[in-house]
Amino acid sequence: MLNRVLLEQTLAPFGVTVGEAAFARLDTYAQLLVETNKQFNLTAITEPDDMTVKHFADCLALFGLVEFPENAAVIDVGTGAGFPGLVLKLFRPDLQVTFLDSTKKKLGFIEDVLSAVQLNGETVHMRAEEAGNLPQYRERFDFVTARAVSNLQNLSEYCLPFVRKNGLFLSMKSAETDAEIQAAQGALRLLGGKIERDKQFLLVENMPRRLLFVRKISQTPSKYPRPSAKIAKSPLK
Ligand code: SAM
Repeated sequence: MLNRVLLEQTLAPFGVTVGEAAFARLDTYAQLLVETNKQFNLTAITEPDDMTVKHFADCLALFGLVEFPENAAVIDVGTGAGFPGLVLKLFRPDLQVTFLDSTKKKLGFIEDVLSAVQLNGETVHMRAEEAGNLPQYRERFDFVTARAVSNLQNLSEYCLPFVRKNGLFLSMKSAETDAEIQAAQGALRLLGGKIERDKQFLLVENMPRRLLFVRKISQTPSKYPRPSAKIAKSPLK
């Protein structure tokens, strides 16, 4: 299903190599994704080469850009069909990955893939702004990832409450404008985050990507995250 040569070529500039066992797990994931997608919509990208680059290489490139210590705790907010969280787990089974999404069906799919490759991971069926107020999730994670979930201003309020002090929130976007980042400065400050690194790169030709490394420099005040309607109506400034 996945194009191994294309995966290796795309990842070579990032210094990421995928061993046999990891490739087999990722390929099982890709097969189940295409199969399950016939029953309910998980992704618009199902052509093998497209999937290899836009879903799998896109997420695996993270390993060339971020150092994940052994057994690090990661929560993937708005994980959908598992990007990037499930790719991280299948490539590095030592990572303790929690998958959060407000759509139950998608989490059911993630559980099916985990069980097919005999790995564990917690799925949380909740909105981020609810889970972020619960003590078992609040400031418990070394890394919070989010790909294609919301604008940075609101995404920061969803994600930063999960990050432990000195941990990292990683925002993955295809095209994040400087204006969007500028608009989020006030929210980041209020929530205890600071952009430490802003990495712009090409995944392949004509596929720009932007990865923001937001360091949690101080605790998030207990009044955040606010309820969904509040976040939508008055984004933090
Ligand atoms: N991260 C995946 C990817 O890159 O393929 C999915 C992206 S999809 C466009 C956005 C996902 O975020 C959806 O599955 C949606 O249910 C979830 N989502 C959006 N807002 C959320 C929130 N506040 N709390 C939890 N999940 C949310």
